[in-house]
Amino acid sequence: MTGSISLHPLLDRGVPKGSPGFSGGVLVCECADRPVRVKVDGDVAHNHACGCTKCWKPAGATFSIVAVVPHDKITVLENGDKLEVVDKSALILRHACKGCGVHMYGPVERDHAFQGLDFVHPERFDTDGWSPPGFAAFVSSIIESGTDPADMPAIRARLTELGLTPSDCLNSALMDVIATWTAKKSGVLKS
Ligand SMILES: [Zn+2]
Ligand SMILES: [Zn+2]
Repeated sequence: MTGSISLHPLLDRGVPKGSPGFSGGVLVCECADRPVRVKVDGDVAHNHACGCTKCWKPAGATFSIVAVVPHDKITVLENGDKLEVVDKSALILRHACKGCGVHMYGPVERDHAFQGLDFVHPERFDTDGWSPPGFAAFVSSIIESGTDPADMPAIRARLTELGLTPSDCLNSALMDVIATWTAKKSGVLKS
């Protein structure tokens, strides 16, 4: 690998610091004309860097920054007519701006451990202070977007250095949430 490792413009400068008591804000897309504005009440949870090929990421970024909020905390304020669902068959119904491509929110509506949650990209908040990313998910998937497999050890080392423990699925906490939901569903685990 030549030069320094680039993960995401925000992460490359060091993981942003959160402010305790961040109470939410407005997500704004990249359009100069009629930007989509989506209000989020309260802070995000499970914020992380994601290497999957589905999440929206800014130009030049290898990872997205993505987090969840309860669906009832999301309100489309302006220009919602510009939104369309990227893939109606996907678990996450990513609502993208047709003008600039930024994913504004992505609800999980089907029967799943994440049902009732929306995936959002906190870097689109018009204010700072949101809970910072705490781990890196689907790291191996960046190869599917064109990263040289030979660069992976250096990328994992950089993520670890930033405190973003790399995982090739979700982190243990979220994998446990999914497995617990599945075990309750099958009756193996009594709720
Ligand atoms: Zn836009
Ligand atoms: Zn992703």
